[in-house]
Amino acid sequence: MITTVNPYTGKELKQYKELTSDQIQEKLELAQKTFDYWRTTSYEQRAEKIRKVGELLEKNKDKYALQMTREMGKPISQSRSELEKCAWLCDHYAENAASYLAPESIKTDYQKSYVSYEPLGVILAVMPWNYPFWQVMRFIVPALMAGNVGVLKHASSVMGCAEMIEELFLEAGFHQGCFQNLTVSSDPIEKIIKNPIIKAATLTGSKPAGSAVAGTAGSEIKKTVLELGGNNALVVLEDADFDQALETCITARYQNTGQSCIAGKRLLLHSTIADKFVELFTEKVKELKIGNPEDEDTYIGVMSRKDLAEELEELMNKSIEKGAKLHYGGKRKDTFFEPTILTGVTSDMPVFREETFGPLMAVSTFDTEDEAIEMVNDSPFGLGASIFTRDTDKAEELSKRIKDGAVFINEKVTSHPALPFGGTGISGYGRELSHFGIREFVNIKTVVVA
Ligand code: NDP
Repeated sequence: MITTVNPYTGKELKQYKELTSDQIQEKLELAQKTFDYWRTTSYEQRAEKIRKVGELLEKNKDKYALQMTREMGKPISQSRSELEKCAWLCDHYAENAASYLAPESIKTDYQKSYVSYEPLGVILAVMPWNYPFWQVMRFIVPALMAGNVGVLKHASSVMGCAEMIEELFLEAGFHQGCFQNLTVSSDPIEKIIKNPIIKAATLTGSKPAGSAVAGTAGSEIKKTVLELGGNNALVVLEDADFDQALETCITARYQNTGQSCIAGKRLLLHSTIADKFVELFTEKVKELKIGNPEDEDTYIGVMSRKDLAEELEELMNKSIEKGAKLHYGGKRKDTFFEPTILTGVTSDMPVFREETFGPLMAVSTFDTEDEAIEMVNDSPFGLGASIFTRDTDKAEELSKRIKDGAVFINEKVTSHPALPFGGTGISGYGRELSHFGIREFVNIKTVVVA
């Protein structure tokens, strides 16, 4: 049995019976059978259904939002925003998938030569709890538009959301085998990946989980896309617009109670502005409304699991032992972690080196832009970075020296349906969203007429 628990109340929500091997096999066979049909549908047919998914996300928003909030503690207004973003994603791919995958003619000596983007088949998605709808939709919407079908292993803590997403696709008129939820723990995943029906896999989550999934898929020569978190830097230069930088850095770190792969986790401040910036930043952190995730005006809820809150506390305490200053916050009780600011953070400290997946900002200072870039790049992660400055030409030049998958100037790193999303280093590989994302799980087929 898989048991879900409300992280705010600590009360059990529901028990889910895990699928047996036979039930998993049945679902995979249904997916394969459905793929044989689904691949023959036109983009218009697919788009019509995906648009319907978008409409239903809006229609059922309150129900889905409450489920997310109850299962992983996301403040309710942020749950609703997540669903609105999912609906936007549906519209984006319904509108653009056909052009993203249009055959490309290539001039050669042959009479005719071109590339045709064709679906691969049944794709497995292993997804995390932090954005229970968005992470899944970001995979399945482009996958279906490309003519693939999907099976989902969602995080054990959000099994109710997983069921709702499956129902949503059925309600929108998709065949049962187009998108199926597998109610399983991570135990049978290795066997599922090895099943000949599965053609590729995508995972969003931690490095150990990514390594396990990609290792098995690699041994079977099956493609993977991995999105494994980040340790994004927010670089504030001397000439930054303070108001804009402050607002953006607060949201970048504390939205979703800090549990986001693209959160700005390291705040790097030019030494001449550091004291003033920290003072104003602290004022804003004090204003963040802490409370019951189901209350409309709550901004900081609870972390999704007690063990993750304890891990964050350990990273904080070890960094304090190494000389970091607890500037604000720092208290933890069960799943609640107070919004926290650590100053005087240096590159040898755990909060600088490791991903802090919760509401804790690690503040460091630099004297020169060269030093700032060195600090940004001093991380095995490589998901994204932000630079705040009024000199955007200079920031674009600096962006070339940053190894990450994204650089946002005067903005937090965010995912946008039209822009590729993904990292370098231990943040993973491959890209989601945009035309790059939809082309990850296709056969780039060369066709030649001599
Ligand atoms: P996990 O990586 O353990 O979970 C993510 C998904 O992977 C879940 O569906 C999980 O299933 C599954 N999984 C875990 N281990 C395996 C495995 N060996 N084989 C196949 N699937 C597996 O993340 P946690 O929830 O434990 O969070 C730990 C840390 O991971 C966080 O503190 C954060 O640093 C990072 N993380 C990053 C995310 C991102 O957006 N990139 C999202 C979530 C976490 P199950 O739930 O059943 O264990």
